[in-house]
Amino acid sequence: MKNENKNKKTILITEDNPSNMKLIKDLLTFYNYRTIEAHDGQSALDQIKIFQKEIDLILMDLQLPKIDGIEVIKIIKSDIATFKIPVIVISAHAMDTDIEKAMKAGCADYITKPINITGFIKKIDEFFAENN
Ligand code: MN
Repeated sequence: MKNENKNKKTILITEDNPSNMKLIKDLLTFYNYRTIEAHDGQSALDQIKIFQKEIDLILMDLQLPKIDGIEVIKIIKSDIATFKIPVIVISAHAMDTDIEKAMKAGCADYITKPINITGFIKKIDEFFAENN
């Protein structure tokens, strides 16, 4: 079991909506990813501090309590210990300037809500295939 876990990619899910969190977590677990959860911007930063060496990807909702997603991305990207961890934004604001702000802050890509199950997992798999 330990070896199996070692080979899994670890994804930090930052999402304050419980049903979205459950959907994303269940999907990633089913497709053999290891997940860590954060339910607001501050706990995302706390989890990153603890697991920074293990996290392979951060999925980041933008509208979050305490510290919003853009701010969290800026903090991650300005810290030498964490700036290399890739961030993919998950946002309902497909047409909004939020995505643009997130891209400027250094996120690698974005996924729009509501989550399309097939498209979502394809994007994550492709991300790791391209960024090995
Ligand atoms: Mn949210």
